[in-house]
Order: sequence, then C-alpha cells, then structure tokens
Amino acid sequence: MNALTQEIASIIAQEGPISVERYMQLCLAHPQHGYYMTRDPLGAAGDFITSPEISQMFGELLGLWAAETWALCGAPQPARLVELGPGRGTLMADALRAARVVKPFYESLQATLVETSPALIEAQRAMLADMQRPLDWKNNVEDLPHAPTIVLANEFFDALPVRQYVKTSQGWRERQVGLSGDGAFVFGGAPQVEPYLNAEAPDGAIIEVGAIGQRIMYTLATRIVQYGGALLVIDYGHEATSTGETLQAMRAHRYADPLSEAGECDLTTHVDFAGLARAAKSVGAQVHGPVSQGFFLRQLGIERRADALARQASADQAKDIATALHRLTDETQPTDMGRLFRVMAVTRKGAPQLPGFATGASA
Ligand code: SAH
Repeated sequence: MNALTQEIASIIAQEGPISVERYMQLCLAHPQHGYYMTRDPLGAAGDFITSPEISQMFGELLGLWAAETWALCGAPQPARLVELGPGRGTLMADALRAARVVKPFYESLQATLVETSPALIEAQRAMLADMQRPLDWKNNVEDLPHAPTIVLANEFFDALPVRQYVKTSQGWRERQVGLSGDGAFVFGGAPQVEPYLNAEAPDGAIIEVGAIGQRIMYTLATRIVQYGGALLVIDYGHEATSTGETLQAMRAHRYADPLSEAGECDLTTHVDFAGLARAAKSVGAQVHGPVSQGFFLRQLGIERRADALARQASADQAKDIATALHRLTDETQPTDMGRLFRVMAVTRKGAPQLPGFATGASA
C-alpha cells in the first residue's frame, strides 16, 4: 500500500467516507504524493499523451490563433498570453516560436503559466529557457493580472476534481469513497440526500458537477467581460450536460481502476462544455462553439502547415507528420481526437467571429 493510500484510508477511518471531489483532489494535488505534484506524466514513458506532444503543429496554430485573436480584441498592450496547466511547456514553446512572425504581438508579448505542480514548473522552465520573452508563473487563476489577456487551456479542465451524485429512490446523494471490510476503497452514497437536486433520472444514474472548473470559468469570464481578451478551452467532453460517469484513471497509457494506486494514475473526467458555457454566459460573456477539434484545426490551416513541414522533411518524417495530422483531426469514430475533443472560446459580448469558429454555432 503506498503512502497516499494509507493517508486517505486513515482520513476515512477518522472522518468517515469522503466525497469523490476530495478523493480526486488528494490523488491529484496532495502536496507530497499527489499525481501531478511528483512527476511528469506526459509522453511515451508517462501515462498519457496530449495534442502538443503529438505534433508541434498544434502549439504553432494556437500561437497564431492567440496573435490573431489579440488583434481582434483591439491589440491591447502589453500582449498578455496565459496558459493554464501547461504540462511540459511544449504548447507554449511552439506557440511563442510561431508567434514571432506577428511582430506587434510578439514584441509586446508577456507570457504567464498557471501551474500547481513543482515538477512540471521545472520542466516548463527548462523547455522555455531560450524564449526571449518575459515569462512568469502563477499557481492560481485568481492571481492573474486584472488586464486583457488571451488564455489557452488544453487538457486543463479535465484534470480538475469533480463532485458526483448518485440517484437513489429517496433522491440524489453525493457519491463518496469509503473503506470496505478488507480495507479497499469503495464507492458509496452519502447518508443524506441533496435537497436542491431534483433532476429526473433512473435509480443508479450518476451526474458529475465540475464545481472547481465552473469557479475558474466564472473568474476568467468575469475578467474578460471587465477587461477584454479571450479564453480558449480545448478538451475531451460532451456538448450537453447529461448523466453518466466519466471518471477515468490512466496509467502507462492503459485504463486503470480509479480507486487503486492512489496518486499513481492520472484521474480525469470528461468536460461538461454546456456547464462551462452556462457559467461564462451567467456573467455576461459570449461563448463561441464548441466545435470539434478537427474542424477547428482545419480552419486554422493545419493541412497547409502539414504540407509545408512535409516538403522540408525526410520520407520518414513526412510519414510522422501525416500520422500526427490524422491523429489530431480525424473525426471518423466518436473516440477520435478530432471529434472527442471540442474547442470553445469565451469573449466579451459583440466580439467578432474568432478564427476556427466560422460556421460553429455562436451564442
Ligand atoms: N496542457 C498540457 C498538460 C495537460 S495535463 C498538455 O496539453 O500537454 C494537466 C496540466 O494541468 C498539468 O500541467 C497539471 O499539473 C496542471 N494542473 C492540474 N490541476 C491544476 C490546477 N488546479 N491549477 C493549475 N494547474 C493544474
């Protein structure tokens, strides 16, 4: 039994079952043993791979998106670019390199990385050591300057803890993690029902509420309404709020049991885009999309970028570029990244159409 499992077991033994949200929080962000606190989870040797790690094209196109969106937002000085949960810093490095060609943006660019993991901050510093732009780190969106900002968030919201509720014949109960007779973690329901939840659903149905993500969206959307700028969210998830459990654990690129090996697997859930959109609209912001990642990247010109890279590449490299293009944009199956991943932006009301959202529904 690892140290975090022992610690969580003793919390449950003393205080009783804990919410799924608290369990996820402990597994992901415990200061000593939390999953993100202790390691670099990305890449072939890690547990999962993300779009910027698949191809440089992803970060490059987002860098150009940021520059164009900044211009559409009135080119505020300085050009502030923020990334939430930047992983290894690959997206930011590719974005800054690509943005060099947009001189007015690049020359006044100040980048901020919002990251809680000391291990990943170190990786980001190393990755971005040669960038000739001012960079700083914050560990909370609340600490971002009150100023117009372009914010990028790829696979950030899926990494935040969620609450779960289970429908029973008496009503909805918060889903908890407790201990079985033999000391293993088990799911259960809180003894009391939640009086404010009255959605119709069959018994046993589960709903997830991303309260932490919603709070972050409120904060950022409120800032955007007040000061301008834009937020771009790219993540896997669903367009409509619905019942269903999406909590998943990944270890070494395979699904694992979310209740075992606490702190050693990546725990995520699918992002409720409708919930995030409601949070943004509730403070008066405008929501663009969501559109599929495949649609978004094609609109930004990923096919032309892939052709340009392939022309300067060896035959083997050209094959890798074609594979990466397919992986990022294919929409054939529901689990293909081009379809499962969605892209949504938030701006002030009355903002012009943003790159990548041309025929996407705008609300
Ligand atoms: N965006 C990167 C990494 C995704 S992994 C990529 O696409 O490759 C999730 C990232 O979010 C990690 O960097 C993790 O440390 C960070 N993170 C998780 N919870 C966070 C929080 N509450 N505040 C800031 N960063 C967080």
